[in-house]
Amino acid sequence: MSAPAEAVTAPFRELAAALRGPVITAGDPGYDEARAVYNAMIDRHPAAVARCADTADVVACVRFARAHGLSVSVRGGGHNAAGLAVADDALVIDLSGLRSTTVSPRSRTVRADPGCTWSDVDHATVAFGMAVPCGFVASTGVAGLALGGGIGYLSRRFGLTVDNLLAADVVLADGTLVTASETEHEDLLWALRGGGGNFGVVTSFTFRCHDIGEHGTVIGGPVFYDIADAPAVMRWYRDLLPSLPEELSGWIGLLTIPPGPPFPEELQGRRACAIVWCYTGPHEAADGVLEPVRSFGSPLLAGIAPMPFTALQSAFDALLPAGLQWYWKAHFFREISDAAIDVHVKYGGQLPTALSTMHMYPVDGAASRVPADATAFAYRDGGWAGVIAGIDPDPANAGRVTAWAKDYWQALAPHAAGGAYVNFMMDEGNDPVRASYRGNYDRLATVKRRYDPDNFFRVNQNIPPA
Ligand SMILES: Cc1cc2nc3c(=O)[nH]c(=O)nc-3n(C[C@H](O)[C@H](O)[C@H](O)COP(=O)(O)OP(=O)(O)OC[C@H]3O[C@@H](n4cnc5c(N)ncnc54)[C@H](O)[C@@H]3O)c2cc1C
Repeated sequence: MSAPAEAVTAPFRELAAALRGPVITAGDPGYDEARAVYNAMIDRHPAAVARCADTADVVACVRFARAHGLSVSVRGGGHNAAGLAVADDALVIDLSGLRSTTVSPRSRTVRADPGCTWSDVDHATVAFGMAVPCGFVASTGVAGLALGGGIGYLSRRFGLTVDNLLAADVVLADGTLVTASETEHEDLLWALRGGGGNFGVVTSFTFRCHDIGEHGTVIGGPVFYDIADAPAVMRWYRDLLPSLPEELSGWIGLLTIPPGPPFPEELQGRRACAIVWCYTGPHEAADGVLEPVRSFGSPLLAGIAPMPFTALQSAFDALLPAGLQWYWKAHFFREISDAAIDVHVKYGGQLPTALSTMHMYPVDGAASRVPADATAFAYRDGGWAGVIAGIDPDPANAGRVTAWAKDYWQALAPHAAGGAYVNFMMDEGNDPVRASYRGNYDRLATVKRRYDPDNFFRVNQNIPPA
């Protein structure tokens, strides 16, 4: 439905008349809601938010922004911690209303709209016992996660999300629509597999799906150890993980046990080292595969059980609702050295707030067998993507969580592999982006020159045209 033309100011009346979805400008009811993103630390004032209803709306937005010399930002799930879905004075191409999926159990593929969250895609595929390698939570947007890499429970077994991105429809900077696949615009597909939102607005994603668990039921959940056991747990985990079958993955973190059910009252608020496991292989082999995990140490709480993949994926969503203050910093790690563990013990013992946390996600197995230059995502050395997240509901604590994350990150730098996962970065300038793409950076800048020579799409982890 078109927005009433008088609801918006010139020149956006012209845009509103051209779109099926509404255009929201400053002063309109709903403007503050429309400009808010997941991270409440982000407080930007775009010129207008265009809630696109279809691909034609996206094309109209791109043409309108060019004609009026406006910059654009693109919003998928709005989860990016750097707030790259919105920018001051920009036209926000808001895709969050486009959330349908089409699954094909026969060809083992799923097509997803650009405003889908992973809960939408998991819902569509797990019903058929399949899943696309995605992340560790369901509430993140498909678009941003898939374009930046996509590290999750299935990465060890089936690769990153980008390794399973088969095709994308893309509105380019000149307003034309192309399909990038392994047979058309192959250079664009290569760049979209990790290069983020630099190359155009993706209006449709097609992914490969994989059979998981027993008809989508996996065996997983968290195991919590006392924070005092963190050094021993981290050493055991780093030695064990590479030897485990790829059907089993687990990320490790330092955190505070949440203050509510299902956690026992006596453990709530206690600092812990946790590993969240996910086994996606045949259930008759599960006991053998999980035996080393189940027999290690003296956990405070072990919650490994059969559950639908959708349940594991959404297990942490309620703990991390939209509207919290977030500041995070990231590294890649080839190893978890004893010296790095000393740093984790120090800063993990100083978690500044109950939600602040450190996580390390494995990037090994199938993800590390893909050659580093086969997709834009360059870090394929094995090891972990680490993220230190300072989180709190209270804006008064924003400075405290930020300082802790920066100090922790700095202290880990000598033990890191260089670069970081672009989806775990704040707005940190070009140097870290270049470092993260390693040998692929120059090729990305060349593809950028071909598809977006004016750097029209620059509200992202930006790669200026070569
Ligand atoms: C709680 C939480 C958990 C997370 N867990 C994981 C995880 O397990 N694994 C993982 O890999 N990552 C994870 N992330 C990081 C996540 O991948 C990024 O935050 C990602 O940017 C989110 O995508 P989005 O669509 O929600 O983002 P948005 O904020 O909407 O957009 C992010 C960027 O993508 C661009 N973009 C969005 N849509 C499009 C489109 N259709 N076409 C072109 N460009 C587009 C935007 O311009 C922007 O630059 C997590 C983030 C959070 C906050």
